[in-house]
Amino acid sequence: MTPIDIHGVGMTSRRTRERLVQRLREGGIVDARVLEAIRSTPRHLFVEEALAHRAYEDNALPIGFGQTISQPHIVALMTQAVLSRGPRRRVLEVGTGSGYQAAVLAPLVERVYTVERIRPLQQRAPKLFRKLRLRTIESAVHDGGLGWPEHAPYDAIITTAAPEVVPEELLKQLAPDGLLVIPVGLSGQQELRLIARQGDSSEYVEEVIQRVRFVPLLSGTTSA
Ligand code: SAH
Repeated sequence: MTPIDIHGVGMTSRRTRERLVQRLREGGIVDARVLEAIRSTPRHLFVEEALAHRAYEDNALPIGFGQTISQPHIVALMTQAVLSRGPRRRVLEVGTGSGYQAAVLAPLVERVYTVERIRPLQQRAPKLFRKLRLRTIESAVHDGGLGWPEHAPYDAIITTAAPEVVPEELLKQLAPDGLLVIPVGLSGQQELRLIARQGDSSEYVEEVIQRVRFVPLLSGTTSA
């Protein structure tokens, strides 16, 4: 790992990243810890080389296999929601994709568990985590609609693909006062929800954050 790999040059320069952070701030991201995590995460390494020059625009970009790396604003918004009710220790992400959301979360919580259903995507992300020395992220191929029971319970679960209805298994794997940040609904009419487990009960309070557009949460795992 050479410094140039991490910090990049030209279009991936500090000024370019600072512009993105400024844009997110103007778009309502107020949590300074989240803005700092976005500033220090080299998004250009999480997209295909041919698209690296667009990595600090506030857009979703293709990552292969019909999937996308989420828009920075959405990553920041979801991360901010995870941290909105006090610190979180153990967080599960459903939908590793490029690994970018996990990398943004990693410095802000104790441990990130992340699962992906498409094997080749799942195999790519840990290489980046190692390169960036993000040692607190653990990843696996798994159908995240079923959570990741081995490591449950989680203080928060963040889902970066949208189911039509909230999967029961995810609610069950929340620790007391745990939070689920999840896009829900059919394509074209999804909303991002923040669902808070009330103490150790099986009661949950829901809040809609905003309308969003995510790829669908699919079941099972696949090699391509
Ligand atoms: N968090 C990712 C966003 C990737 S898009 C990033 O920062 O790049 C959402 C991802 O969810 C896709 O890679 C898709 O394959 C994955 N996905 C969809 N359904 C899933 C499921 N049931 N379990 C695990 N991953 C799933």
